[in-house]
Amino acid sequence: MRYSSLSSGSEGNALVIEAGSPSRGQPFRLMVDCGLALSEVVSRLEQRELLPSDIDLIFVTHEHKDHIGGVARLAKAHGIPVMATRGTFAAVGLAFWKDVQCLQVVPGVPIQIESVELTPLAVPHDAAEPACLRVRDGHHSMACVTDLGRVTDYLRASLQGLDAIFLEFNHDREMLMTGPYPPALRERVGGGWGHINNEQAAAFLLELLHPDFQVVTAAHLSQKNNTVGLVDGVLSGLSLGEASYQIASQAEGSPWTVLA
Ligand SMILES: [Zn+2]
Ligand SMILES: [Zn+2]
Repeated sequence: MRYSSLSSGSEGNALVIEAGSPSRGQPFRLMVDCGLALSEVVSRLEQRELLPSDIDLIFVTHEHKDHIGGVARLAKAHGIPVMATRGTFAAVGLAFWKDVQCLQVVPGVPIQIESVELTPLAVPHDAAEPACLRVRDGHHSMACVTDLGRVTDYLRASLQGLDAIFLEFNHDREMLMTGPYPPALRERVGGGWGHINNEQAAAFLLELLHPDFQVVTAAHLSQKNNTVGLVDGVLSGLSLGEASYQIASQAEGSPWTVLA
């Protein structure tokens, strides 16, 4: 299994995960969210030696623009099916999905595609029916967990035993509280239905660690209320054992991360 973020943050998100044994000559390629313009997706895939037609499925976590903005155009242009919860599909209206093959999923219910198991998991976030995603093949498991206002016991229980996690480190609490956001937005972002801050993410990460855990990619950093330096400071201060960390950015995403 390997994964690479094309871009991560409130300006647009897209993550590519390759999973499964290459029995058909190539792995199963999943894109999680697509909040980028089609031209941007194509060029960023190209940098990773992929074509849009290489993507087998797009999973959409929720209907916010930074996650869904480019989905319909990509799906239509290349005939890629889109998977999401009923609430996510409904939130943007039927017309948005015209000519798109839509696969509805229920949070908590795993979907098996060849040797790959996809499990959407409900997260608390201010969207209709948001879900993060756990991906498991015969060898590894990882999860994409962004856009959540708090860590729930359900997530704690559902995400044990991962090899890797793509995890939101949205904001620094202090920066959010003293930064440029008006009070209402500050409350939304920092509240239980917004985004988790660096400390919450770090604490959650520690709960997920086990001897075989390999790598965490910090994701969805706020451009106004966080810095790479702050996230790096938090992560470098943790006892991660053998595990490593990296930080995905809006401009670059993250390089291919290959699970051993
Ligand atoms: Zn987002
Ligand atoms: Zn969101």
